[in-house]
Amino acid sequence: MRDIRTLAVLGAGDMGHGVAELAALSGIDVWLRDIDAVALDRAMGKVRASLDKLVQRQRATGAQADAAFARIRPTRELAEAVGSADLIIEAVPEKLELKQRVFAEVESAAPPQAVLASNTSAIRIREVGAQLRDPSRLVGMHFFNPVLLMDLIEIIPSPSTSKDAVEAAESFAKKLGKTHVTLREDTPGFVTSRLIGTWVGAAVICFEHKLGGKEEIDSALRFKAGFPMGPFELADYTGLDIGVHAAEYMASRLGDAYKPGPGMRALVDQGLLGKKNGRGYYEWNVGKMLIPITPDVGRSFDPALVLSVVANEAAKLLEQGVADAKDIDLAMRHGCAFPMGPLEWADSVGLDTVLKALYSLEEKTGHPIVKPYEKLVELVEGGKLGKASGQGFYQYGGSATGAAVAAPASGPKFETVLYDLDAAMMVATITLNRPHRLNAINGQLLVDLRAALAAAESDDRARAVIITGSGDKAFCVGADLGDVGGMTPASATALAREGHWMCIGIEKMGKPVIAAVNGHALGGGFELTLPCDFRVAARRATFGLPEVTIGLLPAMGGTQRLPRLVGLSRAKEIALLGNRVDAQKAHELGLVHRVFENDSFERDTRAFAAELASRAPLSMRMTKQLLNSALSTDILMGMEAESTAFGVLASTEDMLEGVSSMFAKKKPEFRGK
Ligand code: NAD
Repeated sequence: MRDIRTLAVLGAGDMGHGVAELAALSGIDVWLRDIDAVALDRAMGKVRASLDKLVQRQRATGAQADAAFARIRPTRELAEAVGSADLIIEAVPEKLELKQRVFAEVESAAPPQAVLASNTSAIRIREVGAQLRDPSRLVGMHFFNPVLLMDLIEIIPSPSTSKDAVEAAESFAKKLGKTHVTLREDTPGFVTSRLIGTWVGAAVICFEHKLGGKEEIDSALRFKAGFPMGPFELADYTGLDIGVHAAEYMASRLGDAYKPGPGMRALVDQGLLGKKNGRGYYEWNVGKMLIPITPDVGRSFDPALVLSVVANEAAKLLEQGVADAKDIDLAMRHGCAFPMGPLEWADSVGLDTVLKALYSLEEKTGHPIVKPYEKLVELVEGGKLGKASGQGFYQYGGSATGAAVAAPASGPKFETVLYDLDAAMMVATITLNRPHRLNAINGQLLVDLRAALAAAESDDRARAVIITGSGDKAFCVGADLGDVGGMTPASATALAREGHWMCIGIEKMGKPVIAAVNGHALGGGFELTLPCDFRVAARRATFGLPEVTIGLLPAMGGTQRLPRLVGLSRAKEIALLGNRVDAQKAHELGLVHRVFENDSFERDTRAFAAELASRAPLSMRMTKQLLNSALSTDILMGMEAESTAFGVLASTEDMLEGVSSMFAKKKPEFRGK
């Protein structure tokens, strides 16, 4: 495998400076080239500011930040930039002729073995490399903005790209700590730009056909469907000219169905480009929308109208062999911040529901992009309706093929949590299952979680319990703010009390409970981990109590349990500053017991739980209760309770089994008696 030690980045704009910073932080020497000296200065200033922020947030030490900064060498000379590079990433403006010209120059100045990559967001790689003498060296490496934060790199081989170039791009993505998806077809817009373009396009069609107001659609997508921004906000944010240009490119290659909406084009013609010049769909001031979108305005718009069109388009990509379902969904979750992939979403709401939405849109708008794709119709006619029927874009039950959460094979059913028992391992897993809201807590989730915990407690086959979150983004991001908005003081207090009871219930359980923090654990989500006996975290996990940044406070026991766990001083740093702490830092603070790698997180967590489940159940129960009460009990009273418990255990069958197994050097088989 080729090791990339020296990288050249061409174009020091929004993307180029981010790629340079990320690579430098990963120990790679970087040449950053731009034709414009001012752009270079600005880029280095942005890198410095971003590195300083990492230090401030304790994500890097001062020495690491300084070393990364020193690794980036800005230059205006192409030969200097590419002369010693193992990999050259182009991030110049999205103009085909410019990119072709840049690569023609690069080909004569770069070492012949260097791999060439384009960060184009939509142009087919075969077109970018059309002028190259050796197009086998060129591969698409599509980063996302902001580069440091967005986890995905979409890798796009053209029909000529060599296996070596693809493997170099993949191993480089790993070296940067990013998730990558490698496509099988070099299609316009790839997976991500095609589907995010469809997402915005579908919203524009709804708006232009008066099926919803722009604020209404944005609010519904944000607060009902869990997107971080609505489509009109996003279009304004990235620039309407950029959106129109991308749609025009797509239409020129794929047909008129992909053309930008006339209203959107008219805004661009009037020079209203969005955030960058203060006005587009909305009015903006210093990078912020003048009137923010609120949860209430979207109540009557059904986000399924927009999401069905995206699922329909995703089905086309799937059928055309661009990528498999799992990769399409993963790309949209990691690259475009979709709360759920479009195909897993379609399976979860039912493909018949998706089809109905498409027929209704077709009737009302007549737009070709909303026409139901044959594959979707075929699936519905064949009774493959998604999760509920056991088969849709994914197969469910027993042999789930993708990221979609298969229906649990055993155990009770709940609306907002999944309950699964692994009888062989004696481990029950409770999964918070509101991925479209990043598993945020609402009243129903509290009810379901308490019921699932009670089921685990009373099930003799379960000796350890895991609580985790659905999807790979969030464990739980706390109270569902869409719901908190409409609360009264009395109902908010009642909700906090419900949360308290649930947390006390976890502490009172006789079985060890593990919070398996697979992603963000924020606010109430973080607090939910605190009464658990163990916290294990995926490398990507983050922890935080941001309540003070929005005028609330941690109200699920966080103000009380956190100081007891990490000490008052550290608790104040976390709860009063409201900044996030990553998994490693949480481990150093003693908050997290184990940090597991993202790829093996589920497996490692189960192994950890199985180890706990193999211990003597009565000993575990009594030891847990004594430990839990230790800090609030008088020490003499505590020791009295300890000796009584010791006496009880000394006459149990399990004690005899444990001691005799120790002498016989065999694994004990505890029966909880
Ligand atoms: P940008 O306009 O912010 O920066 C482009 C930079 O390239 C400018 O500094 C410009 O001076 C420089 N440049 C122009 N000609 C050059 C040349 N011949 N050699 C070296 N530098 C040159 O653009 P951006 O937003 O960083 O986008 C760059 C590429 O990344 C585009 O293809 C874009 O589609 C893609 N992309 C952008 C985003 C995004 O959100 N901005 C996301 C993914 C991909």
